[in-house]
Amino acid sequence: MSCTNIMVAGTGNALHPYRSQVGVFIEHGGDMFLVDVGCFVPNILARKGVEPYEVDHVIVTHGHTDHYCGLQQLVFLKTFAQKNPKINLYTVPGAMGLLKALVNSVHYSQILETTYHEVVPGSRLSIGSMRINVFEAKHSVEAISVSVHAGDAKIVISGDTAPNEVFREESKGANLAIHEASLTSDQEGSREAQWHTTVASAIRQVSGSDLGVLYHLSPDSEKEARELQNTQGKIIVPDDGVSFKLC
Ligand SMILES: [Zn+2]
Repeated sequence: MSCTNIMVAGTGNALHPYRSQVGVFIEHGGDMFLVDVGCFVPNILARKGVEPYEVDHVIVTHGHTDHYCGLQQLVFLKTFAQKNPKINLYTVPGAMGLLKALVNSVHYSQILETTYHEVVPGSRLSIGSMRINVFEAKHSVEAISVSVHAGDAKIVISGDTAPNEVFREESKGANLAIHEASLTSDQEGSREAQWHTTVASAIRQVSGSDLGVLYHLSPDSEKEARELQNTQGKIIVPDDGVSFKLC
């Protein structure tokens, strides 16, 4: 059985001054895809030795710009390199028009074979031998989370969401559970906590998995997460581009 490589390419929220906006790269058996593509995700892939134009599947969890602002760069790189000129884009119905407009805004994007796939909670996708289940996130707009089955590995990725029982269930027994931690714990009960998760809640959300990864960090939530990382165990607060290998 071949291994699964996971790179948490982007780990910051929309306004983090030195982290890229989010994106998670998964490769198994030569097939690869991204879950979200934040502004600098293509650059971080390249920095870590993955040619961005090789990626031809991108799942965008929702229509907030920080989750797809790297798509324009990815499309541009594919047209510029004129290698692997195809891309499959998966997103919720409410965000599809945004992605189409963005792709069409790139010069020569018509040379790409672009396929758009609407996904909703309950959708099941196949990329190579990988199986991806889509489930609902609790966010301010229509949004999804995903669980990925790659060989014997299971990886669950939240996107933007308030704490959600479905995620907790999905992440039980998963090898890796990647959850947003946008807020500090003293923001529990705030208006923002209706659609984002605090560090303390994010740690609870991933507690059933072998290893929890916190992302979509603000400078303040990052500080708290790093402090708790040392006391909680099984929690990682990665820098951009940190990789995991599951075999
Ligand atoms: Zn969002």
